[in-house]
Amino acid sequence: MARKYADATTRFHESYEVDKKTKCWLWACSLDTNGYGRLRNNDGRLVSARRFALIEIAGKFIPPGYSATQICTGGRQCVNPDHLTSVSGSVIAAKRPGYGGSRSAVDPAARRQS
Ligand SMILES: [Zn+2]
Repeated sequence: MARKYADATTRFHESYEVDKKTKCWLWACSLDTNGYGRLRNNDGRLVSARRFALIEIAGKFIPPGYSATQICTGGRQCVNPDHLTSVSGSVIAAKRPGYGGSRSAVDPAARRQS
């Protein structure tokens, strides 16, 4: 019998290093292609480590369409729930130049001229 994965919360707490100065929990395990931490939850699904931190560790609720983002200077790897908050996708898009593109900004109706 193959050994089952350890509990996701246990693995979460084994997957970061605490920065003593900033109190940031810097993810030291698997990263996704954007450089964000990720881990397998108890269902075996890969989930965002920051999302996991907010929901499973801090017991917070992230509304649909919202994402976990950090409010510290620790960068993408920080998974300390005290340093994380949830924001709507549009706020994230506004924070990232170039993200979201300008494709939808051009409304054909707005170009209508007589
Ligand atoms: Zn932090």
